[in-house]
Amino acid sequence: MDAAPRAFAELPRDRELGAPVPFACGTDDGYGGAGTPSARALDKRRVTQCALSRICGVCGAGLGRPIAFLGSSIEVGRNAFHFPPSHVDCAQALVAAYAGVDQPVLGQDESAPRVLVTTASFEFVRANREDLDRRPTFHPSALLNETSAR
Ligand SMILES: [Zn+2]
Repeated sequence: MDAAPRAFAELPRDRELGAPVPFACGTDDGYGGAGTPSARALDKRRVTQCALSRICGVCGAGLGRPIAFLGSSIEVGRNAFHFPPSHVDCAQALVAAYAGVDQPVLGQDESAPRVLVTTASFEFVRANREDLDRRPTFHPSALLNETSAR
C-alpha cells in the first residue's frame, strides 16, 4: 500500500530536527504507522516510485513542469541528484524548512540541500555494480534556472 499524497503543511515532522519529512524519506510505517518519521535518509523504494511514476519527492502528488531538483553544489556540478524530482513550490518550501539544519539529511552527503534547479525533464540512472555510491541518481536535462538558498 502506498501512502496518499500529502500537502506540505501536513507532512509528518522529524521529531529530532523539527522539520517536515518529505515523501521520499517516508516509509509506510513512518507515515501513520508505528515507525518514527525521519528525514535522515531517503527511502529507496519511494525514490524509485517517484522516478517511475513521476511524482513529487516532497508531497507525493503527480508532477507537472517545470520540475525542481534540490541538492548540494556538488550535485549541481555533477548534474546528478539523489533527492527525487519535486514541484517547484514543494522544493522551495523544503529548502526553506531545512535552512537552519547543518547536517546530512534528505539524501545529502554534507548538509541539507542548498541549491534548487529547475528543468523540463530528467533521466533516472541506477548505480552500476562497481559504483561506490549505489544509490540511483536523477540527471536533469537542460537546466532552466538555478537558485541558491544560501
Ligand atoms: Zn509536491
